[in-house]
Amino acid sequence: MGDSVSRRSFLLTTTALGFDLKPAIAAARELKISRTTQTHSVCPYCAVGCSVVIHTLGDKARNVQPSVVHIEGDPDSPINRGTLCSKGISLKEFVVNERRLTRPLYRAPGSSAWTRISWEEALDKMARRIKDTRDRGFEEKDAQGRTVNRLPNLALIGGCTDTNEINYLISKFRFGLGIAAYENQARL
Ligand code: SF4
Repeated sequence: MGDSVSRRSFLLTTTALGFDLKPAIAAARELKISRTTQTHSVCPYCAVGCSVVIHTLGDKARNVQPSVVHIEGDPDSPINRGTLCSKGISLKEFVVNERRLTRPLYRAPGSSAWTRISWEEALDKMARRIKDTRDRGFEEKDAQGRTVNRLPNLALIGGCTDTNEINYLISKFRFGLGIAAYENQARL
């Protein structure tokens, strides 16, 4: 290795000389998140549902675009106690990514092209299709004449980050429509 100094040999030397680098490393780590807002959330990748803390820079002024600078495991979580797996630790790249979809896209029947539409248009299209599907498939009575009020031609599927609160709202929504088929990966 000659005269070159490896990171390991540098650390061994500084430790031998009595320098403790831990405070300097801790200070550098603190600087990165010292001015951030912390938001608690859940890793979206799998059903373990690890809790995360999202660090965002930006003073919440109307003309300031906030930016996520760091995401880490939530030490207060009884699920993961501050840890994240190799997939969860890459979450920042999931959030801050130029290829991330942030606007609804629509592909018309028979078309191979996706076009950008507004949220209003997307919600209108979904509401129209749900209404039409319900009008076609709603069953008030079964074959024996018993009241069932069910909708067998619509189903709902949930994701691993659906919280109790979201699932509560989804249940209200599906019971209101009569949807009986519902599957969810959530373990929260
Ligand atoms: S950090 Fe890993 S184990 Fe935890 S929820 Fe995300 S993908 Fe699953």
